[in-house]
Amino acid sequence: MGQRKPIVAGNWKMNGSCELIKEIAAVSEQVSGEQREVLVFPPAILLSEAISAGLNCGTQTVSEFESGAYTGEIQASLVKSLGANYTLVGHSERRSIYGESNEDVANKFAQAQSSGLTPILCIGETQAQRTEGKTEEVVKQQLEAVIKKLGIASLANSVIAYEPVWAIGTGLTATPEQAQATHKYIRDLLHSYDQQVASALRILYGGSVNESNSELLFAQADIDGGLIGGASLKPQSFKAICESAKG
Ligand code: PEP
Repeated sequence: MGQRKPIVAGNWKMNGSCELIKEIAAVSEQVSGEQREVLVFPPAILLSEAISAGLNCGTQTVSEFESGAYTGEIQASLVKSLGANYTLVGHSERRSIYGESNEDVANKFAQAQSSGLTPILCIGETQAQRTEGKTEEVVKQQLEAVIKKLGIASLANSVIAYEPVWAIGTGLTATPEQAQATHKYIRDLLHSYDQQVASALRILYGGSVNESNSELLFAQADIDGGLIGGASLKPQSFKAICESAKG
């Protein structure tokens, strides 16, 4: 992993409780530090509680708009002012259930950065796209939507999460070799735009990561930690996953 400090991030989706915040805050205190950054994405309504408990936090999405009449939306600048540092953008559930396009995701990425949040840009192919041999084409389009709008320099202040859609919440994990191949493709593609940005950028793997497979995945040259869904709701599993990420 070289100079890139790994991140282990928990995406709680629409789950969680004040009790879980206390348990994960205790885990985070034990395992955060020199070796790795630990990060949690609780539901937005639990954000203040999580920040008060000392967690390094973000939201699972933000609005692409700055402020105004957008009922139910999450304002990036408010998230920042509460003390959060990150937001996910373009999680596959946002893309598939809420119809977010590559352009919408690029707009959210822009709004996050202009509010002082670091976006974690989620990209990845569906099973059908992989079967058709389109994995690289899909992740390229997802990345280039952001590059086209904001330029390659914008990625210097971001994190990428490669999450094959077929591996999210299914128990099917990409093999370390499959994941590494796509991570390398992503880094090589970005390298063709800007070598420095590409070599400093942290690229996380997500998709059914658990305490049995995390060590091998995180040991791959271009995998800089993980975005963890289901297993991040189990404090002991999350702790073991965090401990397997070593900078
Ligand atoms: C996710 O929600 O980003 C995710 C990777 O979920 P899971 O670990 O449950 O597959």
